[in-house]
Amino acid sequence: MPPAAKPTILQIAVPTPLYGTFDYLPPRGCDPAALQAGVRLRVPFGRGQATGILLAVSEESRVESRRLRPASQLLDTQPVIAADLLALGHWAAHYYHHPIGDVFSTLLPTLLRQGKNPGDGNETHWRLTETGRTADAAQLQRAPRQAALLHWLRQQSHGSAGAEQIARQGDTARTALRALMAKGWVEQYDAPPLFNRADHAPTTQTLALNDTQTAAVNRVCASLDQFASFVLEGVTGSGKTEVYLEIIDRVAAAGEQALVLVPEIGLTPQLLARFAARLAHPMVVLHSALTDRQRLQAWAAAAAGEAKVIIGTRSAVFTPLPKAGLIIIDEEHDLSLKQQDGFRYHARDVAVWRAHQLGVPIVLGSATPSLETLYNVERGRYQSLRLPERAGEARPPRIRTLDVRHKKLNGALSEPLLKTLAEHLARGHQVLLFLNRRGYAPTLLCHDCGWVAHCRRCDAHLIYHQAQRRLRCHHCGGEQKAEVYCPACSSEELRPLGHGTERVEEVLRAHFPDYSIARIDRDSTRRKGSLQQLLAEALRGEHAILIGTQMLAKGHHLPKVTLAAILDADQGLFSVDFRASETLAQLIVQVAGRAGRAEHAGEVVIQTHHPDHPLLHTLITQGYARFAEAALAERREACLPPYSHMALLRAEATAAELPQRFLTEAAALANQIQHRGVELLGPVPAPMERRAGRYRAQLLLQTEARADLHRLLDAWLPQLAALPLARKVRWSIDVDPMDLS
Ligand code: ADP
Ligand code: ZN
Ligand code: ZN
Repeated sequence: MPPAAKPTILQIAVPTPLYGTFDYLPPRGCDPAALQAGVRLRVPFGRGQATGILLAVSEESRVESRRLRPASQLLDTQPVIAADLLALGHWAAHYYHHPIGDVFSTLLPTLLRQGKNPGDGNETHWRLTETGRTADAAQLQRAPRQAALLHWLRQQSHGSAGAEQIARQGDTARTALRALMAKGWVEQYDAPPLFNRADHAPTTQTLALNDTQTAAVNRVCASLDQFASFVLEGVTGSGKTEVYLEIIDRVAAAGEQALVLVPEIGLTPQLLARFAARLAHPMVVLHSALTDRQRLQAWAAAAAGEAKVIIGTRSAVFTPLPKAGLIIIDEEHDLSLKQQDGFRYHARDVAVWRAHQLGVPIVLGSATPSLETLYNVERGRYQSLRLPERAGEARPPRIRTLDVRHKKLNGALSEPLLKTLAEHLARGHQVLLFLNRRGYAPTLLCHDCGWVAHCRRCDAHLIYHQAQRRLRCHHCGGEQKAEVYCPACSSEELRPLGHGTERVEEVLRAHFPDYSIARIDRDSTRRKGSLQQLLAEALRGEHAILIGTQMLAKGHHLPKVTLAAILDADQGLFSVDFRASETLAQLIVQVAGRAGRAEHAGEVVIQTHHPDHPLLHTLITQGYARFAEAALAERREACLPPYSHMALLRAEATAAELPQRFLTEAAALANQIQHRGVELLGPVPAPMERRAGRYRAQLLLQTEARADLHRLLDAWLPQLAALPLARKVRWSIDVDPMDLS
């Protein structure tokens, strides 16, 4: 008897919170040759249908063959996930211990996840045919408009153009185009639109790079066809972006693709305009405000290799790059590169892995590199490139602390600071004040009985927003009308306690009635475009005083600012989070980068109750590099990252005791498995135990050897998922957590 033919089993990643792939039989009547890894299939899943990705074809299954179901439909003739991204997805699922189906669905634009086709966002384009390329233009002597259009098309890359560009060639261009098509010189085709088709020569002149910039460009360009990690360290205004532009230009001119990741807040119209003006290469932009269709278009243009420059935020790290040549991460220290929920990847770390896989260089740029990155420089894994000076004329600002102990504070502003402010304003300069707390006051307090406004769903105060007379919780988004009488004693003596940006703005208006003030925080910039508008006004010098949160600290060129002040540095010095001092130092340097960018020397003032704090002192007197050394030494002493590695198991539930019970059982399981080399810390309640009505607890895992941690997680997580309590709590694992709250 002949042996039974081995079955064909499809291992499919299905978007679900369950770990592992799912086995299916091929769709009925499907050609086995069409079943390439990376294609999408519709599959029956639960009671409905899902779109999954084929990861592998095998002959065996863990499931009995009679229980296997066939996939319903093959959706692609070509893989939508290329081989390199398949490998990346496998690695990321394993490294972050995240369900593989969810990882792969993150890799695809929403419309592809929903089963649409990669070409669905395409638009009509026109290009020269072979005849059109070579025909003698003199034949068009009597058709000057056709001749002009032909001449123009021949200057475009690939001799092609989209509808919008052709429309820009004048009213008669369409008629001329039809005539050329009738001659067979031009043909129509479908392609995704591009942000910056190469239809112009660069409008800004290439700057003559200074010596350190040139050295940095040359070092990176010497490794263009191989993996190498570079850290480009330079203060704001030192010319990092010029260095990026120069390297990108070379890479794109050679027909290769450059991927540029920037923090959400850094992806401004100004930045895009600067890139578009300087680089005559097809470009796409990927950010959270795109429609699904625009996202698909940008993805498809990259996947086709047409887009040579891809600029995007965190998730753009997964963009297909068939002709990869370079990866750049701007502001590599920025915490927004880490995804804080669901698939908790760090885009910088994924990008470094990817650059290695693709064999291309990666440049991590920052004025204030993260301690992890500096540690990698120290170990010789990354090469350091420094831009020590500001490009152009600007001089570095003078930074000093202002000891506010015993000093009278006028709404978070000390008398000496008010005096300094007045001096700068009198000289016609701009000043910038920074406070990482929006709203009017951190809470409302009853002067008669001590009652304070608390969120009912979180362990947090409600923030008082005076403009709307509302109390809001910044953790769960809950809000209510501000009380007029104390709910506890009915007194009328309810007073705002402490200061937020809204209240500081009010104080400033009282002190400086003759100057225009702009407040820039999440409340004042809710309307789309309002942040850009406020910044543009600030840039034109329409506001003498700028007060704001984090938003104001990052990446904007405000050359008229000569004084920058940090109103409260103490929050960052005494936090439960071991990264708080690093974040504070980065912020101080960022804020300092706002001051004195053009011809005026700048001044930076830091209000604190702890002027002698050693790390703060080192930062101010010796700079960020020495601060980082000292902070790294502290981390080594305490055996904290980057000298150890962490993973955080979180659990939350509406019932107070469940999260802790789940984590206690989890810890017991880990003890059974034996977790040599991995220390378990906890379970403990989260720093803010209750948030949005849920109780939260956590179990921290710490190790010196990453391999030990992964070995434990591999064995442990499937067992955790099987615990009865696992279905009663929400739990998650966070590898390399950036936020321990
Ligand atoms: P960064 O990205 O480090 O903040 P930029 O590249 O934006 O710095 O440069 C800051 C400013 O200095 C910009 O206005 C830029 O045009 C200018 N600049 C940069 N490099 C040079 C140079 N080599 N010569 C003159 N101006 C320069
Ligand atoms: Zn009261
Ligand atoms: Zn709340």
